[in-house]
Amino acid sequence: MSRGARQDAASGVSDPDTEVSSAWRPSSWAVWSMPRRLLGPILVVELTAALLTVLSIAPGDFDRRTIMMSLLVCGLGIVHSEVALRVERVRRRIIDTLHVDLSSVWTFAAAVLVPPVLAVAVAAVVFTHLWWRSWRPRVAVYRHVFSTATIVLSCLAAAAVAGVHRDGGSGLDGEGAGVLLLAGAILVYTTVNTALVAGAVAMSNPQPDISKALGRWDDILLEFATLSLGAITAVALSINPMLVVLVLPPLLVLHRAVLVKHLEEAANTDGKTGLLNAAAWHVQAERVLHRRRRADGMRGVLVLDLDHFKAVNDTHGHLAGDHVLAAVADILRTEVRERDLVGRFGGEEFVVMLAGLEGSGSAELEAVADRIRRRVADLRVEIPTPDGPLSVMGLSVSIGCALSPDTGVDLRDLLQAADKALYVAKGAGRNAVRMGSVQLGRAPLRPVTTTGPEAGD
Ligand code: GH3
Ligand code: MG
Ligand code: MG
Repeated sequence: MSRGARQDAASGVSDPDTEVSSAWRPSSWAVWSMPRRLLGPILVVELTAALLTVLSIAPGDFDRRTIMMSLLVCGLGIVHSEVALRVERVRRRIIDTLHVDLSSVWTFAAAVLVPPVLAVAVAAVVFTHLWWRSWRPRVAVYRHVFSTATIVLSCLAAAAVAGVHRDGGSGLDGEGAGVLLLAGAILVYTTVNTALVAGAVAMSNPQPDISKALGRWDDILLEFATLSLGAITAVALSINPMLVVLVLPPLLVLHRAVLVKHLEEAANTDGKTGLLNAAAWHVQAERVLHRRRRADGMRGVLVLDLDHFKAVNDTHGHLAGDHVLAAVADILRTEVRERDLVGRFGGEEFVVMLAGLEGSGSAELEAVADRIRRRVADLRVEIPTPDGPLSVMGLSVSIGCALSPDTGVDLRDLLQAADKALYVAKGAGRNAVRMGSVQLGRAPLRPVTTTGPEAGD
């Protein structure tokens, strides 16, 4: 599988009609929307891929057997893309982050089966066909070229490990050695690809987040699964090309399973912030609240509402408002633990369910809320605009908290208590935290000592 920096490196989405007419006008190319600091490194990657390909050419690369094998792998890659066309188009439409595709079954098989220059040709054809049929125009040409360069470099690295160009054979015979070669080639392929893509993603963000750049564990595991299928394909092809028919069904099933998982995620996710949407948050929060596990300890919720958010929209525009929502969502994600549930309730309202709170839970809940309040107050959101970067500052949030008693509370009571506390925080001048307590449907309020400036605004 190949992972391209197709979304994060820049969002070069273009319209299909304007795309053709603007293709001949360099000034209108989407590449110029990319951060300037990325241009140099990306060019270096692309030139290196081209240069190493030329240098990899060796006498005897183009014999009848290797050419036939390359054509067969190319053909299989194209058939796979055509059969999975609908699945791939839907995936491309719903995925907004790093996109993982399954074409590297074929590019990896070529890398370990045929001489490097032919493997590069197979990768370029299969990958460009996939882009042309499934990803255009969402993925701009320059992003496709960069992704292809990363695949080419990964193929060359894997080919160097498999050593097919040196011994001129398949490199897969000699059982034990063959397995080791394939495992080594998988490791090298995925390392090169991940490093290049993660580098581009990290460089495209002013504040790089290495874990975001590397992608999720799920994606990395999927990449290994795909490359393993690529290795099995290579072995099948080297024994008897007819055996490759057995690879296609599991590959197509894997492709569908990945789509189902992405659809499920999309149905649970708020598109603007990547947080849980309200419905998904409710379902998961109910589960946490009624789970009876010692490790869950005390549970509590925070309901958060950005202060005077309408003014942000009115002053800087709706798009800037959206950037602020995404930045606040990032704060929420980083200020709570992975297992806590963070959701967007709608508009500029967020909600968090925390479990496993220490002791009575109250002090920790208030501390988390106040930490979030302070982070939002210090937040400075940099928004790129055609007239240069725009900074939005002076934001604040009001937060209502509620702690779940040991037994008998339902989620609605808990949210109601937190919501009432939120309104008290608003009434107290905003940029404040208030604690509500749930008592059989009643929610008396008491002020929290750690609130921010109480001055009205
Ligand atoms: P308060 O301090 O009382 O909460 O004031 P407020 O301005 O934050 O609250 P109000 O309810 O008056 O306005 C909420 C604003 O949030 C109005 C609406 O346009 C904006 N909003 C809601 N959803 C979105 C969104 O998805 N993106 C953007 N940019 N704005 C949104
Ligand atoms: Mg609101
Ligand atoms: Mg508000």
